[in-house]
Amino acid sequence: MGISSIISLTRAMTTSQGVDGFRQAAENEMMRLAGIVPAGDNAVERLNTAPPGRGVNVMMRKMPFSKKIKLVPTFLRTMNSVTKCAEYMQQRQPSEPVAGSTTFWDLVQNVARENGAVEVGFVRISEDEIFEGYAIPYQNAIVFTVGMDKEAVSSAPSYDMLVEVITTYASLGDIAIALTEYLREHGYGAYPGFPVGGVVDYVRVAEQAGIGAIGYHGMLISPQEGSRQRVNLVFTNMEIPEPAPNPHEWILDFCARCQKCVRSCPPGAIFTSAVPDPITGRKSTLHYDKCLDYYGANQGCGVCMDVCPFSQAGYDLIQVGFQKAEKRREKRKTAAQHKMQPTIDIGVSQPAPMPSKAPDVVFD
Ligand code: SF4
Ligand code: SF4
Repeated sequence: MGISSIISLTRAMTTSQGVDGFRQAAENEMMRLAGIVPAGDNAVERLNTAPPGRGVNVMMRKMPFSKKIKLVPTFLRTMNSVTKCAEYMQQRQPSEPVAGSTTFWDLVQNVARENGAVEVGFVRISEDEIFEGYAIPYQNAIVFTVGMDKEAVSSAPSYDMLVEVITTYASLGDIAIALTEYLREHGYGAYPGFPVGGVVDYVRVAEQAGIGAIGYHGMLISPQEGSRQRVNLVFTNMEIPEPAPNPHEWILDFCARCQKCVRSCPPGAIFTSAVPDPITGRKSTLHYDKCLDYYGANQGCGVCMDVCPFSQAGYDLIQVGFQKAEKRREKRKTAAQHKMQPTIDIGVSQPAPMPSKAPDVVFD
């Protein structure tokens, strides 16, 4: 870690603009690349976790000095990772696409997992997922998630959860660097995505890659870690296959019945139906502004991540229970429709509908 990173760290922990200032400086590296893909006409503004006097900046200001000091090693690891990502941005890569292969794609997934990634997918990023005013080096990307410690998430909102979030960012950066190196060694152009912030909407892109679906709480839900995860990616000129349809779309139907995060969010920042975000105009069930202020005042949050059944019961169990419940609902609906139909007297009476059993999974 160089002197500039130490200055950045000091600023991040003591001033109201430090965190955002550091992130912005790193992302500016990306804007200097040749052959970049600019944001599309329907691109939206990036939501800021650290606007002056709010969010992360309030959190850092309010944090007792003793806790800040304890945070330094974790912060240093993350900043080191982000700094390295910025260095990789300065190493110019070829812009021409290079053919990939199924075998090589399997190897890439293995490398990602060996370095700690959980879900791994690929995606062609739409220009509209690039944040307004930003650009990316390649449209193809390898997307991956890193899981978060269940115990730390269960303590949210808490200092432990905050430490876990920062630690996860470091892992996201380290994996992106390992993948970038691997791709470059094998003749592909690659740049790591920034683990903190980023110039594309990582969660939406991960959903488009088919590795999960976005829940009412605005986060990715996927099979292995449920909601307990964060996302990063690596931009590459490697050609990718056509993505298959997303198998996780049923999750939104489950959310409509569950709504546990809606009831549990302390400031009431999650809605039951999507409304346009006041900043981006894009429809979302998460009221970002409300979340941001609560997050800043409470050493972060993550209650919605913790209460989500996908983080507790597990994906497979929920899917099986939900499918059974859906079938029962369908049967009841059909039985009710039959009951309402006018009776044609053919001398045989209709059998009475069977009483419904208690559902295997309770959607409270
Ligand atoms: S992180 Fe906390 S405040 Fe934000 S949406 Fe989730 S529960 Fe609500
Ligand atoms: S808590 Fe329920 S409604 Fe909220 S994201 Fe998880 S499954 Fe969806």
